[in-house]
Amino acid sequence: MGAFVGIDLGTTYSVVACINSDGKPQAIPTAYNRTTVPSVVYFGSGAPLVGEDAKQEQAAGNESVASFFKRNMGDPYFVLSFNGRDYTPVDLSALVLAHLKKQAEDYLKTPVTDAVITVPAYFDNARREATKQAGEQAGLRVLSIINEPTAAAIAYGMRPSQETQNVLVYDLGGGTFDVSLVAITPHELRVLATDGDHSLGGRDWDDRLLIQLQHQFQAEFGADLVGDDFNRLLVQAEEAKRTLSDRQSVPVRVTASGHTATYTITREQFENLSQDLLERTAQLTESVLQQAHLGWRDIANVVPVGGSTRMPMVRAWVERMSGKPPMGGVHPDEAVALGAAIQAAFEIEREQSQRLGGGAPKPVAKELLRDRRIQDVTAHTLGLIAESEDGSRYINSRLIVKNSPIPAEQGRPYAMRLRPDGTTELEVFVTQGESDDPQACTYLGLYSFTDFPALNAPEAQVDVKYGYDSSTIVQVEAVEHSTGKPLKLEVKPVPPDVPARFLGSPRDQRGRGGEPMTVYIAIDVSGSMCGEPLAQAQQAAHEFVRQLDMKTTAIGLIAVSDAVHIDQQATHSQSEIERAIDRMTCCSTGGGNSGHPFDTIYDLLSPLSGPRFAIVLADGVWSYQDRAIQQAKRCHHAEINVIAVGFGSADQQFLRAIASTEAGAIYTTQGGLGNTFSTIARELSGGSDGKTGGKLGRYS
Ligand code: AMP
Repeated sequence: MGAFVGIDLGTTYSVVACINSDGKPQAIPTAYNRTTVPSVVYFGSGAPLVGEDAKQEQAAGNESVASFFKRNMGDPYFVLSFNGRDYTPVDLSALVLAHLKKQAEDYLKTPVTDAVITVPAYFDNARREATKQAGEQAGLRVLSIINEPTAAAIAYGMRPSQETQNVLVYDLGGGTFDVSLVAITPHELRVLATDGDHSLGGRDWDDRLLIQLQHQFQAEFGADLVGDDFNRLLVQAEEAKRTLSDRQSVPVRVTASGHTATYTITREQFENLSQDLLERTAQLTESVLQQAHLGWRDIANVVPVGGSTRMPMVRAWVERMSGKPPMGGVHPDEAVALGAAIQAAFEIEREQSQRLGGGAPKPVAKELLRDRRIQDVTAHTLGLIAESEDGSRYINSRLIVKNSPIPAEQGRPYAMRLRPDGTTELEVFVTQGESDDPQACTYLGLYSFTDFPALNAPEAQVDVKYGYDSSTIVQVEAVEHSTGKPLKLEVKPVPPDVPARFLGSPRDQRGRGGEPMTVYIAIDVSGSMCGEPLAQAQQAAHEFVRQLDMKTTAIGLIAVSDAVHIDQQATHSQSEIERAIDRMTCCSTGGGNSGHPFDTIYDLLSPLSGPRFAIVLADGVWSYQDRAIQQAKRCHHAEINVIAVGFGSADQQFLRAIASTEAGAIYTTQGGLGNTFSTIARELSGGSDGKTGGKLGRYS
């Protein structure tokens, strides 16, 4: 067996740590003598470069660079292409992890085989499984996946103290925010409650600066920042943000399209631009306190974790709320990796102890943990879709509620009528989400159990066990009660008509005639849409949603620029789609226009019945229009009605080529978007010719 490490796989920076020869956790330095490694990959002509070298390519404006992919972990539709190869977030994370493994091996001069990897506490099942898969792809045995704030609390817990105290771990990294409330007693380190947002982090603060600089530049020269210029400004915005943590103002020199200008941003201006982001972390923190039935006066210390807690606005807020400055002495960049290394030591020693029948040879972790046991909780309720008791509606039946200690397990018995031909199948939709409304949940998959034993009875009793393991990864298994025979489990992808299938009453649905309409809105979020154009598009999308009857229409949202991202699967919930529209940000899928949404639209809509529409909004010329046209035609053949809306420098001929009908190619102005979307909504709901879709669609 080789050595083990703890890895903090961050959105912007990662850290790898070991237990050194003194039995102390230590962050391993890079060849540049730093402990933080940029989570950035550069695809040049040779093998991909990871870390500082890749970050330098990004700073030089090189576009063949992948970063921030942790935000898309677990998203099966997200891929980036470099040198003719597709990379998923798992592939990209595996490259970062393999780089960290090699860094540790060079330093320790021994092979590294095992690791504990950390994830945001708020990561759901798909994101955790994807992280574990990335570790395995990098050649590591993943001992466990633990939560970042808990890892930081483990590092914090190393300090000698016999007192019982509550600490609040406020973890604001590059791309995610987590907050955990931890009770530390002489015997245990127990997480009481946790919450977070996996798409809120330092990057959002960078974006506020970026948009401000872009606006100023656009106002002065009328030129958009795209491609290399945009990527360079992204790196400059992050640097400016860091400088503003130490200084009151910073000059930023913007160069694009042959123009150069220097703009000075003050700290006050920056804080005004990002006040709402801080407010969001404040709301989540208050919510965690409420969940644990505690108040600020019960908190002994706030432990700041993650590079973004260096921002003075964060520190000032902590001081205002808790009455004292954030805790010093815990390294905000390294604490998570150090805690992960301690956990890795603990797990390795436990394995050794089990192998040797008790008594580990070198109980390093026991000492580092000060004999405390670690008790973490789950941030997401685990449930399944069931019919309500009176059969009038579908509900999300909660099995293991949020903030339950992990590992956790719950059983449910089922009575199944056996089919004589041996094809009996038990299907369960497993969910994560707090609401009892199936429309508001995340679906983990369709869990299908088969291979029932032959019984001399018409019915079988099945015991299904649902649980979270110690990595908060979902485990489901079932046995036939009378024989104890385990059933065969297959986790199938969620069918495209879910959650819409669970709308209304199960009874009515069984006999329903008219089929619901499904609409996907695909919005161009490339660099040229930043600011007002995107705001107008969002406004138009809101108007569209508000004019349709959500009982009979499901609406989804897709962001498209260099890559394509499904921001929202088609939903009948107005608040859900409106929230997704509000969350849309510029350049969330890259700054350029090298992607197109038609493959995704085809995958999402072709399996559905009922009227199907895709409204595609573009403000400029896409890089690979021919490919987009070809794939749009595939949608037309599948009777998916494409409506193409363009403004600004959109190519009108292209709009006509991708739209299903002539009337479905609409060229308007930025200010006319609202009216255009309202007209489309009217056509889709009634149709000027009385049919669904009116003159914009064909549906028979
Ligand atoms: P992490 O993922 O925990 O490494 O956090 C990285 C984030 O911290 C990035 O968004 C950085 O821009 C941010 N960060 C690092 N140092 C500073 C600083 N001095 N001031 C503001 N943000 C910082």
